[in-house]
Amino acid sequence: MQRPVFAANWKMHNGPSDARAFLRSFLTHNARRTDRQVIFFPPAISVTTVREMIRERTDILLGVQNIHWEDKGAFTGELSAGMARDAGATVALVGHSERRHVFGERDEETGKKVKAAVRAGLSPMLCVGETLAEREQGRTEEVVLRQLRAGTAEIEPSQMVGMLVAYEPVWAIGTGKTATPGDASVIHAVIRAELAGMVGERAKGIPICYGGSVNRGTAASLLEAGDVDGLLVGGASLDSEGWSSIVRT
Ligand code: PEP
Repeated sequence: MQRPVFAANWKMHNGPSDARAFLRSFLTHNARRTDRQVIFFPPAISVTTVREMIRERTDILLGVQNIHWEDKGAFTGELSAGMARDAGATVALVGHSERRHVFGERDEETGKKVKAAVRAGLSPMLCVGETLAEREQGRTEEVVLRQLRAGTAEIEPSQMVGMLVAYEPVWAIGTGKTATPGDASVIHAVIRAELAGMVGERAKGIPICYGGSVNRGTAASLLEAGDVDGLLVGGASLDSEGWSSIVRT
């Protein structure tokens, strides 16, 4: 098994001052480790601060929460993948459920964003997941596979190696409800099988993370579930001490 991924999505929290204070504490209490991959997704305004704080820590990756699919242009408020790379990011979240459901991002756009990320040398972390209504209609697999196919539609299979996938059921994000390890494992296996259909054996090297109200009490059992290669954590990554204990799972 590859080393587990622990990814912190700070959403719209931790501006530069708070990000600096967080990392000062986190870095003091968490020595370099090679047996896990930690990734921070700060808000764009804090990317440079985080880059400076983790400068010596090549074991920690820096990501952005969103990118535009164009390289540059008249897109006020947006950020290109190339700019993120220039600022030191190496990973980009694409299709997070808040982008899809709060900002109306469509499947087609996630495909273009994944392509833009790869073009700029970023590893895309493609988020997929069903809403509660879709789950209750028994459509979880259909929705997740549709999002996975659309998100990877614009890149070559060879470019998929290096990407990450996050299964994040929408009903579990920020709600305190978590998928059971068994439920997560079933969907992760579906995702893995689909990836295997695209890239064969190399699918084993594409980390599939679970996200949705993970906390220090649930992290270990989720990580033990089959095909769960890591965790994408929102709320519980905002407190340095709590996040440290999840990373030490
Ligand atoms: C997320 O933002 O990706 C997430 C999983 O949030 P939370 O852990 O707060 O549910």
